[in-house]
Amino acid sequence: MPRFVGALDTGTTSTRFIIFDDEGTPYATHQIEFAQSYPFAGWHEQNPIEIIESSHACINGAVEQFVAKGYKASDIEAIGITNQRETTVVWDSVTGKPLYNAIAWPDTRTSRLVHAFKEKPGAEKLFDLCGLPLSTYPSAMKLVWLLQNIPAVADAQKAGTLMFGTVDTWLVYNLTGRDKFVTDSTNASRTMFLNINTLTYDDFLIDFFGVRGIQFPELICSSDDTAFGKVAAGANALAGTPICSCLGDQSAALVGQKAFSVGEGKNTYGTGLFLLYNTGHSPVFSKNGLLTTVAYNFKGHKPVYALEGSIAVGGSAVKFLRDNLKLISDSDEIGRLASKVPDAGGVVFVTAFSGLFAPYWIDDAQGTIYGITNFTTREHIARATIEATCYQTRAVLDAMQKDSGYDLKTLKVDGGMSNSDVCMQIQSDIIGINVVRPSYRETTALGAAIAAGIAVGIWKGVDDLERVNKKGETTFTPTITEKKKEKMYHLWERAVEKCRGWVE
Ligand code: ADP
Repeated sequence: MPRFVGALDTGTTSTRFIIFDDEGTPYATHQIEFAQSYPFAGWHEQNPIEIIESSHACINGAVEQFVAKGYKASDIEAIGITNQRETTVVWDSVTGKPLYNAIAWPDTRTSRLVHAFKEKPGAEKLFDLCGLPLSTYPSAMKLVWLLQNIPAVADAQKAGTLMFGTVDTWLVYNLTGRDKFVTDSTNASRTMFLNINTLTYDDFLIDFFGVRGIQFPELICSSDDTAFGKVAAGANALAGTPICSCLGDQSAALVGQKAFSVGEGKNTYGTGLFLLYNTGHSPVFSKNGLLTTVAYNFKGHKPVYALEGSIAVGGSAVKFLRDNLKLISDSDEIGRLASKVPDAGGVVFVTAFSGLFAPYWIDDAQGTIYGITNFTTREHIARATIEATCYQTRAVLDAMQKDSGYDLKTLKVDGGMSNSDVCMQIQSDIIGINVVRPSYRETTALGAAIAAGIAVGIWKGVDDLERVNKKGETTFTPTITEKKKEKMYHLWERAVEKCRGWVE
C-alpha cells in the first residue's frame, strides 16, 4: 500500500489540493479559481476569506475523489502548504477577522511610498540585512500603506491586536482553528522584516518601517512534524491531519524540481516568472539586481539559500491578451498564433505592467509596445508577448552568471506557461541553452508534499527521492544562430531603456 501526503497550493489566481503517493504520483486533485480585484490602476487585491473557503473546498473535493477510489481520508498522513508570497493579510487577534483585503504581491500602490522610504536614513542598510531592495514587491511597504490608510488597521496596532501575516500564516491560523500563528523562513524572507543572515526578525528593520506593536508570526522551519499543528475539528475532510510543511511557492517549486545541489536552478512560468538558483548554506548578495532568499529550511538541517530573479509579468501577459485585448480566446492560443510567424516582425512588447522587476527594478516603467507598422499582425503581438518573458529570463540568467561566476547548463522549467511547447522553444532560442521540462509540472505542490512527507518519514530526506516524479521529460534545444539571438536581445535592451520614466 502506498503512503499518501496532500499538498495545498494557494497560487495567485487559484487554489488546488493534490493528493500524492510516495512516488509523487497524483491520485486526486481539486482546483478552484478565486477572484482578483483591481480597484484602481496598479492595485491588486484578494478576499482573504475566499482564500480560506477555496482551501477547504479544494481539500474536500480532492478527498472525495480519493475516497471514491477506495482509500480513506486517514490514509493521508500529512498536509504540506505552498502559497503565493509577499501578499499581505492583516487581521484582528480578538475577532480573527481580516481588517482589509489581502494586498497581492504585484500591487504597485506603494510606489510613491517606496520613493519616500528610499530617502530615509538607514535605507542603504536594508539590502545587506534582508537581501531585498526596497520596492513595492515585498510585504513591508504594503503593511506600511495599510497602517497609513486604513483606520481600522492603525487602531488595531494601537490596541495591540493587529496580526500581520503572509498567506501561509493566514492559512495555518485558519486551518488550525486559530491554534497556530506561525510562518516559515522562506515566506518570512519575502517581507523585509527578517534578517537574512540570522533568520530572526530584525529590530532595525522593524523600526525602519515603523511596525512595532504588531503581532508577527512565530518563525519555524519549512518542514516540521509538529510546529504547524493539525487541521481543526470540523474544519474540513482532513480534520486532525498534521500540517507538516510550508514553503513559499517558488521555494516549493525548487524542492519539487529536486534542485538540491549548489548551482541547480529552475524557472517557474506562472502569473509572474521566478528563477531560483541554489547557493547552498550561505546567502549570496547580488551586485546585479537579484534577490537573496531562503530556498528551504528543513528541521534538523542547515537552511539553504537561493539567488532569485523575480519577473512580475509572465502568464499574466497571456491573460492580458485574452481578457483585456481579446486577441486570443484561451491561453494555449498564444503559442498557436506565435508559431505562424518566424519572428515578431520588429515588434518588442515591454510587459512592464507593474514596472520591471529583476534585474532592472524600474518602478516608473509602464507596459509599452514598440515597432508597430502596417506589417504588424496579431501573430506578431502574440510572439512579442512570449518573447518579453523570455528576454527577461535571459537578463536574469546573465545576472546570475555574473553573481555566481557559473554558467547554467540547462534551465529546468515548470508553471502554466511552460505547458506551451512554442513558448519553451522560443525560450531556448533566446537563452541559447537547453530548456528541460518534466512531464509532471505541478512541481510547486509536489515540493510542498515532499517537505511534508520528509517530516513524517515517507522519505528519509532529500537523498531519498529518486523514485519521485521520474517519468520522462522534454528537452528544447536552441535552433537560431548566435548572431540572430544577440540581435533580438539588443532590440529588447533598447526598448527597456526607452520605457524608463513614463510613470510620473
Ligand atoms: P499561478 O500559480 O501564478 O496562479 P500557474 O502556474 O497556474 O500560475 O500559471 C497560470 C498562467 O499560465 C496563466 O497566466 C496562463 O495565462 C498561463 N498559461 C497557461 N497555459 C498556457 C499556455 N498553454 N501557453 C501560454 N500561457 C499559458
